[in-house]
Amino acid sequence: MDSTPPVGRLAPSPTGLLHLGHARSFLLAWWSVRARGGRIVLRMEDLDGPRARSEMIDAALVDLTWLGLDWDGPMLLQSSGLERLRAEAGRLSDLGAAYPCICSRADVRAALSAPHEGDVEVRYPGTCRDRFGSREDARKLTGKDASLRFRVPDGETLVKDELRGEQSFDVGGTVGDFMVMRRDGTPAYQLAVVVDDAAQGVTEVLRGDDLLPSAARQILLQRALGLTSPRWLHVPLVVDASGRRFAKRADDLSLAELRERGVDPRRIVAWAAGVSGLDGDERMTPEQCLKDFSLARLPRDPVRLTAAELAMLKTAP
Ligand code: GLU
Repeated sequence: MDSTPPVGRLAPSPTGLLHLGHARSFLLAWWSVRARGGRIVLRMEDLDGPRARSEMIDAALVDLTWLGLDWDGPMLLQSSGLERLRAEAGRLSDLGAAYPCICSRADVRAALSAPHEGDVEVRYPGTCRDRFGSREDARKLTGKDASLRFRVPDGETLVKDELRGEQSFDVGGTVGDFMVMRRDGTPAYQLAVVVDDAAQGVTEVLRGDDLLPSAARQILLQRALGLTSPRWLHVPLVVDASGRRFAKRADDLSLAELRERGVDPRRIVAWAAGVSGLDGDERMTPEQCLKDFSLARLPRDPVRLTAAELAMLKTAP
């Protein structure tokens, strides 16, 4: 096994308040690299236009610090690196790996944020493949601004995930040529995540397993751009008693709410440790859990938060 210390990342999207599911994935991402003496970087994924709000950036920073997490180096605000992201979209285009598209569809909007479970994704049929030489040509010929789509190669893409094993995805057959840059020049999530992970030197991506299909798209982009793929670890999601994934859009169980109730963050840490196969007592800081951390102990099934556990977590202190 490679002995170079890993570089992990925390990459919240400031489109809503963080909740218990985020707390668990962020703690795991932090534990996984810190347990091996690695670094962890922070990136705020704020490209999702009006949905990303500055007060949510502040709230996420307060939440992460409240939990006892830290990170190395300055936070990268994704929107501050637009030129770099656009340049990489242009490079894909120059390589013939991306093409202009003037189709106007609902998925133009969807391309900005990470596709989580429950989000509907429509397969793009390739209407604009080989239609225009460049975005400028598309503009001249149609009077419309063009987006850029990645030309997905035929065949299956293999994701070697440390937790889920080898998983194969037919990207072309399911989502088709996906968007890398919106018509207004905003980079899409799939491109932004790949370019910024490389810019921040990330070697390990640990996140919720609803983003496992996105790893296949990200591998294709990494290949096209000549970037090394990180180690992938997709963890099972936290679900409520009815099996529903926690959604920050619903603001249920936000960390902010728990904090306002006066809940001790070490209780959240102890819960996250317990459901991740770590021994922990009621009062633990993230640091104190490090000595036990082992991926082998992580459960492979969704973590169900029962009503009793929830009531316990919600009760101050
Ligand atoms: N920022 C994304 C989200 O919060 C996660 C992206 C990723 O981990 O690749 O949904």
